[in-house]
Amino acid sequence: MIYFDNNATTPLAPEVLDAFQDSLRNFGNPSSVHQAGQKARRLLNESREKIASLLGVSESTLTFTSGGTEAINSVLLPLYVREPRGKHLVVSQVEHPAVLQTAAYLESLGVEVTYLPVDSAGCIQVDEVKASLKPQTLVVAIMWANNETGNLYPVKAIGEMLREQGVLYLCDGVQAVGKLPVDLGRLPVDFMPASAHKFHGPKGVGFLYTREGVSLDPLIRGGRQERGQRAGTENLPGIAALAGALELADQSLMAGMRKVERLRDRLEQGILEKIPGARIHGDASHRLYNTSNISIPGVPGEAALINLDMSGLAISIGSACESGSVDPSHVLKAMGLSDEVASSGLRFSLSRYNTAAEVEKALRLITDVVERIRNAA
Ligand code: PLP
Repeated sequence: MIYFDNNATTPLAPEVLDAFQDSLRNFGNPSSVHQAGQKARRLLNESREKIASLLGVSESTLTFTSGGTEAINSVLLPLYVREPRGKHLVVSQVEHPAVLQTAAYLESLGVEVTYLPVDSAGCIQVDEVKASLKPQTLVVAIMWANNETGNLYPVKAIGEMLREQGVLYLCDGVQAVGKLPVDLGRLPVDFMPASAHKFHGPKGVGFLYTREGVSLDPLIRGGRQERGQRAGTENLPGIAALAGALELADQSLMAGMRKVERLRDRLEQGILEKIPGARIHGDASHRLYNTSNISIPGVPGEAALINLDMSGLAISIGSACESGSVDPSHVLKAMGLSDEVASSGLRFSLSRYNTAAEVEKALRLITDVVERIRNAA
């Protein structure tokens, strides 16, 4: 199988698998006093130190979670649930459902929510974010990299403006951390969730970065793990593997970025050359180097996905978390595209493990499948 669905999840890096298995044998509870507990605590501390140093932040800013969704909920729910009325939240219309569904829930409790529109390339200008603020705005949630189009948002400029305005910035970094150079300590964001399975780590583990000096009530209450910020015995194998995966990503970042961009560009060039009418969606000049969102007239996304899968190429349409439903992509719809086009956006997302030979084979499979679907129509 050729796997071009790395924004949904990534295969575990082989080196990380070893770290994962080793830490499964280190079975102690990091909260226990005995030696097994101390050994586990050391691994937990070392993992946190490694991640903090890779991101340029202090260890106390990192709280391990079960992934991006929990980290996002851990910010928004405690800040709004206690007194929802009279508070305002701004989220972009192209956020992941982890943000949008949480915002919709808060709205049902009485929070005023602004869903910030994007232009036809999926872009948002800082001035538009500023214009959406109200005296009662507590948080703005605008992601770093979009999971469907790969669009990159002007995080630094948005963060600087929000800091001047005294508004907290939740920047969803799930598709950016491990894929882009991240100097978190210098970024003007208050909260950044990240998730290991997006950068060749395991599923079910991630972290929330909370800027020093910003206080947040815990979402999950119980024991005193994670400085009381997130109760529950830590997922130590997952955390150790997350640290290993981030270190590996960091080591291969620059070479990996260039390689993957070349593969993605070749894929796009081949599709545009061979398939009349194919159209790339997103901001061509500010996109994640691994992502391509393409619609092909007369080729429904679902039919393409199923046929490609049967031919041995794994891709996705819309966001993986929404698959199983045939709803058009909310991201493409926010960009002003019709239901028909928004249902036919094919997402190709590559990783450093993909090869040029796979891209050439994928191009053949895509042209065959498109021809078959068009002929059958
Ligand atoms: N945010 C973005 C941009 C994502 O792409 C995803 C996963 O697809 C999430 C949040 C949710 O992360 P997790 O799967 O770790 O809960």
